Amino acid sequence: MLVGVPKEIKVREYRVGLTPSSVREMIAHGHKVIVQKNAGYEIGFVDEMYVAAGAEIVETAKEVFDRADMIVKVKEPQAVECEMLREGQILYTYLHLAPDPEQTQGLIKSGCVAVAYETVTDKFGGLPLLAPMSEVAGRMSIQAGAHALEMKNGGRGLLLGGVPGVAPAKVTIIGGGVVGTNAARMAVGMGADVVILDRSIRRLQQLDDIFKGAAKTIVSNTGTLEEHVLGADLVIGGVLIPGAAAPKLVTREMVSAMPRGSVLVDVAIDQGGCFATSKATTHENPTYIVDEVVHYCVANMPGGVARTSTLALNNATLPFALALADKGWKKALADDEHLLNGLNIANGKVTYEAVARDQNLAY
Ligand code: NAD
Repeated sequence: MLVGVPKEIKVREYRVGLTPSSVREMIAHGHKVIVQKNAGYEIGFVDEMYVAAGAEIVETAKEVFDRADMIVKVKEPQAVECEMLREGQILYTYLHLAPDPEQTQGLIKSGCVAVAYETVTDKFGGLPLLAPMSEVAGRMSIQAGAHALEMKNGGRGLLLGGVPGVAPAKVTIIGGGVVGTNAARMAVGMGADVVILDRSIRRLQQLDDIFKGAAKTIVSNTGTLEEHVLGADLVIGGVLIPGAAAPKLVTREMVSAMPRGSVLVDVAIDQGGCFATSKATTHENPTYIVDEVVHYCVANMPGGVARTSTLALNNATLPFALALADKGWKKALADDEHLLNGLNIANGKVTYEAVARDQNLAY
């Protein structure tokens, strides 16, 4: 199969669909790969590395779309990319179609076969192609929070780990899923005093096993949330209710009652945020202050560490990309119900129930 990797065109998106190492693997499986010039330049995957891995470099996205049997990307196709897709061509990328009727129509019209990273499942009931980005965002949240706690950023002037003779900062993590666990790992590693709140007892049991007392686990309810938010120097919001907007667990009153220079990092901002005072920010302008409390609410945190994110994403996406290339989409999907769950559009029709339902389309 001829696999094509265009350069991402969404503003400030530096990730790339395939790394040089993934290209090498594709070629080892007997496929050909074309990569658009400078597709990975900003994150250190220069064209020479792709050539060394066996790829052919082409000048334009049009050439990639015209020639390839399968397009591997990161972000959902923009309108100009939808227009370049053709009937029967496989598109393998993040799509997030439910709230995006324009893209849905563009993909339907193209006749392509669109497999969305975010709906591929695994046998544990998880979303294996979303998890790496939650890992990145969770780990990054502590880095961002530590930075925001510095004086020059409006913070309380606290070092997360303290020093001998001075107590460490208190970090409260709301939601003990992928984001929360990875945040806790970093916070514990830096020597902070860490509490994780979750409403799932089973999850708290698992976290207790993982951290063995290095992070405390507390069941999440109105009283415990208030106690541990007001007592924290840094609060990380990492809750998720699948398919729904994030619940506003931290109220405006709670934010107002926090000490000056406390920091809130709302990782759940991509689902609307779990603090009443959250509004989405960007990497250019990541923080703002409400009632003397610093807020960090970047909606695409992994984009800030695009190289790590690309490598983590490729670890998860490559096995499925190889299956699609090796077997063709029909057989690959027939053989793997979890990859089949990724199929969102085929033959000019929506094939994913939630997308069809949200947009009143035939399914
Ligand atoms: P997850 O499903 O692994 O974990 C969510 C956890 O929240 C679960 O353990 C659940 O029990 C818990 N929870 C639900 N309601 C709760 C409540 N009332 N109190 C306490 N805990 C509660 O999800 P995840 O992968 O960790 O993702 C968390 C959020 O981070 C999602 O909204 C996700 O979209 C977002 N995210 C954002 C970025 C970004 O760049 N901002 C990147 C990756 C993920």
